[in-house]
Amino acid sequence: MEDSFDLVVLGAGSGGLAAAKRAASHGARVALVEGDRVGGTCVIRGCVPKKLLVYGSQVQEQLDSAPSYGVVPGVVQRDTAVLLRHVRQEVDRLNALHIDFLAKAGVTLVPGWGRFLDSHRIAVSHADGMGQDRVLEAKRILIAVGGRPHRPEIPGAALAWVSDDMFLQDRFPARVVVVGGGFIACEFACILKGLGVEVVQLVRGDHLLRGFDRELSSVVQEGMEEKGVEIRFQVSPEAIEGQPGELTVVTSEGESVGCGGVLLATGRRPFLEGLNLSAAAVVVDGHRIPVDADQATNRPHIHAVGDVTDRVCLTPVAVDEGRAYADFAFAGRHRQVNHDLVASAVFSQPELATVGLSEEIAIERFGKEAVTVHRARFRSMAQALPKRGPRCLLKLVLEASSGKVLGCHMVGEHAAEIIQMAAIAVGMGATKEDFDRTMALHPTVSEEFVTMA
Ligand code: NDP
Repeated sequence: MEDSFDLVVLGAGSGGLAAAKRAASHGARVALVEGDRVGGTCVIRGCVPKKLLVYGSQVQEQLDSAPSYGVVPGVVQRDTAVLLRHVRQEVDRLNALHIDFLAKAGVTLVPGWGRFLDSHRIAVSHADGMGQDRVLEAKRILIAVGGRPHRPEIPGAALAWVSDDMFLQDRFPARVVVVGGGFIACEFACILKGLGVEVVQLVRGDHLLRGFDRELSSVVQEGMEEKGVEIRFQVSPEAIEGQPGELTVVTSEGESVGCGGVLLATGRRPFLEGLNLSAAAVVVDGHRIPVDADQATNRPHIHAVGDVTDRVCLTPVAVDEGRAYADFAFAGRHRQVNHDLVASAVFSQPELATVGLSEEIAIERFGKEAVTVHRARFRSMAQALPKRGPRCLLKLVLEASSGKVLGCHMVGEHAAEIIQMAAIAVGMGATKEDFDRTMALHPTVSEEFVTMA
């Protein structure tokens, strides 16, 4: 027997949850199919547990600074197993909360992996592979299955962790090799280092965080190195040998780096495995699903949101796409998601946050003469007494003729919180004059944005 719905959503991550609840609030009959845990990457194995680990990894530094404030901690015992257990408990709480939200919204949660039978029917197999498939018939289908970490094809890659695995560990070994120079690699290198792990980071390029403003990435590198992360540039892993807990990474330099664990943070790919998209004749480009500005695939009743579209792979973008889709499809409210000027942050230590164009991209787009740059580099007041910690960099990239802020960037404490607010001004087309006219709030780090020469 087939169950009939107005909308079947594949994937209970950020985009799928947002779309399902919003569509149900408009009166649609909605089924949400999920083979893994409700919450998706962000809640279960991404943003949320990662940020909790970031907080946990900063405690030692706070303890190290305590004597300068007249507080001398007594015997300090560190047990990372406790931190990891608490993080998992919080994830469990959020997972249950999201399941509850779905029930309250009237969304039917269908556990299992979805597979297209044709363009209107989805077979859902039990997550454990047992039992009979349930067939869902849908007027509309939303693909929100997200992405998965991608392992490079090197011998022994299966011996390494990907980011998902980091949250499942009981504790971390004394030495870890982190492969990659992107978001996940930098964030985990700093988390591990803060938790007392010796970290060697292998980066195949000549700098960290490719795609971000180059000057910012240098400041992050400086801060990470100061923290004790050993970063080796222009080095790639060629093979991973050994057994879990006792591994060797053979590098492109012919070196053997021994460690207790390897984290491959080498990018993520849309998770299309098993979807059988060809049965619905949904076009796939490389490994992503192309969509138009309204999230439609080549089939007008099948849409896709979030990381599976490989456009802007960030939680708030997926949420906004999901809601815009549901509002349009089930309430006739047309709104297209603005993918320009999306603020983003890397929760490395020091933290980097940014909105708009990097200096390099602005120059590439408009020419060197058309761009001016203002910056402030300093040690924040929080570092005055402990006499330690990385320097901040605040940077404005401007259109020279009008003073319009094209990019607003920061490395340093609370960078993400500060850039979130700056993004409003930048989105409204603020100029440097507008920034300068704003009275400083003293003493803060962000006041440098409005007092910059
Ligand atoms: P990124 O694309 O940011 O970084 C991947 C890194 O791995 C790059 O340094 C890349 O090098 C390197 N790499 C790729 N293949 C190989 C290989 N075969 N050998 C050696 N190095 C390799 O991906 P991440 O996995 O860090 O993150 C994926 C996405 O997740 C991000 O783009 C972001 O959208 C999202 N995310 C967002 C976060 C946030 O908002 N704070 C946090 C974490 C993830 P190269 O630069 O040379 O290509």
